Amino acid sequence: MSKIIDGKAVSQSVKDRIKEKAARLKEKYNVTAGLAVIIVGDDPASRIYVNNKKKACEYVGFDSYEYALPEETTENELLELINKLNNDERIDGILCQLPLPKHIDENVIINNISPNKDVDAFHPVNVGKIMIGDYNFLPCTPAGVMELIASTGIDIKGKECVVVGRSNIVGKPMSMLLLHKSGTVTICHSKTKDLKAECKRADILVAAVGVPNLIKGDMIKEGAVVIDVGMNRLDSGKLCGDVEFESASNIAGYITPVPGGVGPMTIAMLMQNTLTAAMINRNIVKE
Ligand code: NDP
Repeated sequence: MSKIIDGKAVSQSVKDRIKEKAARLKEKYNVTAGLAVIIVGDDPASRIYVNNKKKACEYVGFDSYEYALPEETTENELLELINKLNNDERIDGILCQLPLPKHIDENVIINNISPNKDVDAFHPVNVGKIMIGDYNFLPCTPAGVMELIASTGIDIKGKECVVVGRSNIVGKPMSMLLLHKSGTVTICHSKTKDLKAECKRADILVAAVGVPNLIKGDMIKEGAVVIDVGMNRLDSGKLCGDVEFESASNIAGYITPVPGGVGPMTIAMLMQNTLTAAMINRNIVKE
């Protein structure tokens, strides 16, 4: 039976670390980091995410500013708000909750957030910096996965790492972070010929697909670290990962559950990025 990687516990320790650093920023420089969260429309899932982000800000001692805009907000109106926040000294990080309504081009919005306030690390400048390994912000979900792998004590160097999924938000940056840690990285996607054979080679397997239970126990190498990024809502309302937990947990060495694995890490890493942004925007070298 595998060891369960407890995302709630790891994320709590990350948030506690940030809380301490935030207190030091306040004490030494009288600085309170500020995160602006924009939500357009009333998608219930987005609303939950935004509320959780606000709660995390409160916990670590950041100011949060919510901008809840109606569904019919135009692209120009949203750009005006972003421009205002780019120039607002109280705001260190700007997060625009995705997905946006269809009439707004997400890329236009992302490209207009100041790279120094881009706490999601989606701006092309930050994406490029990740590519060359010289970055301030890491995209929150892959960064959270790296913390979870670190919590096992397993060194990535020289390991066979397989990432299933090549999205700009998860799969691609995930692969790059594993590569920076000297893993030997394979990226799989919907056109991969023999997914089972690729997965079976992995010492570290990260599934970021969006297909419930795609990865079964017989696709996993004995003792592997298995990280399940998938968050799929079944018709029953139950949340389910991309990895079939029951069969996989008999084979893997370490495995993340869904929920309670990667999910809690994403918000913790957002707090980390907001702290980093506060230091950059306020020219603080060390907290
Ligand atoms: P995308 O839909 O953007 O990307 C999915 C990727 O999976 C694509 O690269 C696609 O390949 C690949 N894929 C689809 N079907 C298969 C298949 N049968 N075999 C192999 N590869 C396949 O999803 P995201 O990256 O945004 O998200 C992935 C999952 O992670 C989702 O469940 C999402 O909800 C979850 N998620 C969880 C987060 C968290 O905080 N825990 C944060 C972000 C996402 P191709 O490129 O060829 O189409």
